[in-house]
Amino acid sequence: MVEKIIKGFTINFMKKQRLYYSLNEFLKEKFGEKVKKIPLDAGLSCPNRDGTKGYGGCIYCDPKGSGTGLFKEGKSLEEQVKLFLEIFKKKKFKKFIAYFQSFCNTYAPLEKLKEIYDIVYLDPSIVGLAIGTRPDCIDENIAKLLKSYQEKGYYLWIELGLQSMHNQTLKLINRGHTFEDFLQGYNLLKKYDIPVVVHIIFGLPGETKEMMLETVKTLAKLKIDGIKFHALYIVKGSKMAELYLKGKYNPLEMEFYANLVAEALTYLPPTTVIHRLCSEARKEDILAPLWVSRKMEVINLIRKIMSKKELYQGKNYTE
Ligand code: SF4
Repeated sequence: MVEKIIKGFTINFMKKQRLYYSLNEFLKEKFGEKVKKIPLDAGLSCPNRDGTKGYGGCIYCDPKGSGTGLFKEGKSLEEQVKLFLEIFKKKKFKKFIAYFQSFCNTYAPLEKLKEIYDIVYLDPSIVGLAIGTRPDCIDENIAKLLKSYQEKGYYLWIELGLQSMHNQTLKLINRGHTFEDFLQGYNLLKKYDIPVVVHIIFGLPGETKEMMLETVKTLAKLKIDGIKFHALYIVKGSKMAELYLKGKYNPLEMEFYANLVAEALTYLPPTTVIHRLCSEARKEDILAPLWVSRKMEVINLIRKIMSKKELYQGKNYTE
């Protein structure tokens, strides 16, 4: 029997191997039961869209934002929370995390941010707060405000969009920040001991497999708390759509993406929580690749590849 101990995790090749450390598993360990995220749309904007950093946003940006779009439909945050709590409680969930997903959720005056995040007090079943934003939208005062929720006992994490560590790629996709900007925001959050989940995208224009894996290996060195993997997809009406329609961009194949994620996971520390293995989009909203609308198929393929090749998270990780 081959056994290997990695940071307290027993890896037993003769028994069922844990392929990666999923968010569900992490939350179950932390709260003793399943915890559901409530997707919230606070109606905030983004400095890369309103002219502060740039206009039009990243070339792949969905002008509708990546969330529910409920704010534009006139639903207040309180109404959104109540709506989802009703739905999820019927599905027997008892604990929830308020998840601010659309656009940049630290991009507003401090008082406004406090008012928004205070939604956690609406219902005692809300046990945590998750906030998606850009790395250049964090400053000392925001970090202190975020910390205050952690100090009140809420489980808190911040999701920072990096997408790639390569500045030439960040420039090409009109990201409006550099890798150094990311490090600044990241380090500020870590100074306050706030968990950070990093978003990366595979398949960005001009990136080779080696470049994509270099991003993962660099994040592994930082021992990031969590990661979300995305495959680049072409949203109708985005700048990427123009490139794609002119034949200047070829989306990744599903097999390639799945193999890449399977390999990427081996470079990450076993303690990094995997929040997402693949992005998901509705077929009717995108031009390509259409396989991103079949998320479970992609996840199953990643798992199958990992089992077949005997890969697991942390296998190639070195401190
Ligand atoms: S940072 Fe996010 S919201 Fe802002 S333009 Fe880029 S993808 Fe869109």
